[in-house]
Amino acid sequence: MIERVSCAVCEKAWPPDDHYIGDLGLTKAYLFEDQFFAGWTVLILKEHRTELFELTREERMGLVEEVSRVGEVMAKIFEVRKINSELLGNQTPHIHWHVIPRLMSDPEPLMPVWSVLHEPAYLSPDVLKERLSLFRRSLGIS
Ligand SMILES: [Zn+2]
Repeated sequence: MIERVSCAVCEKAWPPDDHYIGDLGLTKAYLFEDQFFAGWTVLILKEHRTELFELTREERMGLVEEVSRVGEVMAKIFEVRKINSELLGNQTPHIHWHVIPRLMSDPEPLMPVWSVLHEPAYLSPDVLKERLSLFRRSLGIS
């Protein structure tokens, strides 16, 4: 049994509303605040669940489809060498996937993003708006 701890998602403390891309079905997509890895997106399960085994088989399949859909769009938008899809939840115990395009220009392409020391890149409101629009258009979300 997994003990319920406080959840930033359910408390609406994360992610920030102004980074919202759109509703994908089972998840809502947001641009990650730190865009050092340009295009880094987070897919957040709408319901509070902590582990994949708490979902039905259909939900798990649907979740992977949504992660895959975002990764495919990223591969069209950016010049990627790899897409990283990560489900961790150690800090925020609410199922969410980090979907991260690793670009050809990636400074540490062999390392997980968590190990790459860098200054966070927060987008200006104009650039944020532009990047959100790019994702929405590419995902067919109005
Ligand atoms: Zn939650």
